[in-house]
Amino acid sequence: MRQTTIGRRISCSGIGLHSGKEVGITLRPAAGNAGIVFHVRTPDGSRAVRPAPDAVTTAGLATTLGGNGVSVATVEHLAAALRGLGVDNIHVDVDGGEVPVMDGSAAAFAELISKAGIRRQSCARRVLRIKRPVRFAAEGKWIRAEAYDGFFVDYFVDFPHPAIGAQRITLDLTPDTFSAVASARTFGFLRDVEMLHKAGLGLGGSLDNAIILDDTGVLNPGGLRYEDEFVRHKLLDFIGDTAMSPLPLQGRFTVHCSGHGLNNAFLRHIFASRDLFLEERVLDEHPAGHLAPATRRPAARICAG
Ligand SMILES: [Zn+2]
Repeated sequence: MRQTTIGRRISCSGIGLHSGKEVGITLRPAAGNAGIVFHVRTPDGSRAVRPAPDAVTTAGLATTLGGNGVSVATVEHLAAALRGLGVDNIHVDVDGGEVPVMDGSAAAFAELISKAGIRRQSCARRVLRIKRPVRFAAEGKWIRAEAYDGFFVDYFVDFPHPAIGAQRITLDLTPDTFSAVASARTFGFLRDVEMLHKAGLGLGGSLDNAIILDDTGVLNPGGLRYEDEFVRHKLLDFIGDTAMSPLPLQGRFTVHCSGHGLNNAFLRHIFASRDLFLEERVLDEHPAGHLAPATRRPAARICAG
């Protein structure tokens, strides 16, 4: 399986969840083995930030990636779309310090990537595969990971709210199945939104980019996109949060009531003992999809396109 990038440069803009101001991104094709690189505009140019588990600086309201003296907020839905559609290499220029929240899902980013097209490159895809079972838990929430040749998630949530309750979804992630979660929107409670606004946070958050709930139901006039939109969005967030791995992660994940914070803590945990839990593999061309341990075959061709 080859690495991919996008076919052409493409931009979008919208409201920033944190600032409430107009912000924008430009996606540009990148060379083989470049990975995902954010270029954050600064007064004197731009600085690069790359996904890494310990480069995630906040994981409450949304995921912020920091490093090199700059940060970029609300990266998770864009990261989920890149991972979901199998884009390995891309430059993301960021204007305004955050990725626009769009409609609170990954739909706009998936559409943007589809419009730009996905281009196969000459070098083989490299992944990090879970190689032994690991369970990570905190405060009754947990994530269990096992070896799997792909990215399979079994996600369960249980919110004591009349509109949510217990919801479960499983997904074997491919560019085709990603559509099951791409348009599921983030959600929040009216009391929390009011509290955040008073604290000057989440200023861009509104009914246009989130499902907002009061104590009894959904306030959005159009209702839900799916009956189980909540668990679909949590799974989307899990794809985006684990996309903070420098290479695509492979494994079978069972996730119980997790969120951005636990997702990142789990990622840090497995990367802290990387040799114990992870193995780097090169997805071989012959036969299609066959996996070969990176250490037992000649190194993947170093390539520039
Ligand atoms: Zn989200």
